[in-house]
Amino acid sequence: MKIDVLTLFPEMFTGVFGSSILGKAAAKGIVELNAINFRTYSKSKHGTVDDTPYGGGGGMVLKPEPIFDAVEDLAPASTSVSPRIILMCPQGEPFTQRKAEELAEEEHLIFICGHYEGYDERIREHLVTDEISIGDYVLTGGEIPAMAAVDSIVRLLPGVLGNANSAVTDSFSTGLLEYPHYTRPVEYRGMKVPDILLSGHHANVEKWRREQSLLRTLERRPELLEQADLTTKERQWLNNQRS
Ligand code: SAM
Repeated sequence: MKIDVLTLFPEMFTGVFGSSILGKAAAKGIVELNAINFRTYSKSKHGTVDDTPYGGGGGMVLKPEPIFDAVEDLAPASTSVSPRIILMCPQGEPFTQRKAEELAEEEHLIFICGHYEGYDERIREHLVTDEISIGDYVLTGGEIPAMAAVDSIVRLLPGVLGNANSAVTDSFSTGLLEYPHYTRPVEYRGMKVPDILLSGHHANVEKWRREQSLLRTLERRPELLEQADLTTKERQWLNNQRS
């Protein structure tokens, strides 16, 4: 997979793209990660990429030309792969694990990070394929949202996580929140690890984990249960917990 991020602050990506799981994935050649300054596509003498809004008002608006030119350079119409062109935007579709899984199937992603007041609307209407928000709050720029999205996508690529099962049992992958984890020591300050986890009985451990996952989802994110893939028995079990 190739991921290009268009940003005015490529230096922000150095640590994130070069460290931990993302850094290792890039070093193994599973993913190519590029942070590209779209100011280099400005045709103005001073590298201008923004301008005042038509109609007045505060803030600066990102101009269409450098962003259209950058995307067309990274994804020439002549190539066979059509990239997903993703605008980071608080007004976009809320980012979810499902969206990360969908984007992890692609060969080429181009993220566009905004700044200032926002983008010229023609970018949104005529260039991008997706608009993504990481939550109902406003950040200064699209860099941190793009990092969050890239991280969640790359960890799903085959060969990236040491334990391939980790991503499969993660919260949201199963439609539920994940069960609780414990490690040594068995007892710490009077707090004990549940006996079932020490029993060595694999089937009982799996049953306990599934129930904990259901309970945790019921307590914290009950709306997820409506869409979750549950058996009739599990739905009945949950109804008993509610009453
Ligand atoms: N004026 C815009 C609005 O009200 O929708 C907000 C602009 S914000 C200050 C600047 C940039 O940060 C946005 O263009 C976007 O790229 C990024 N951004 C801010 N919050 C975001 C969020 N929740 N999700 C994704 N991107 C976000």
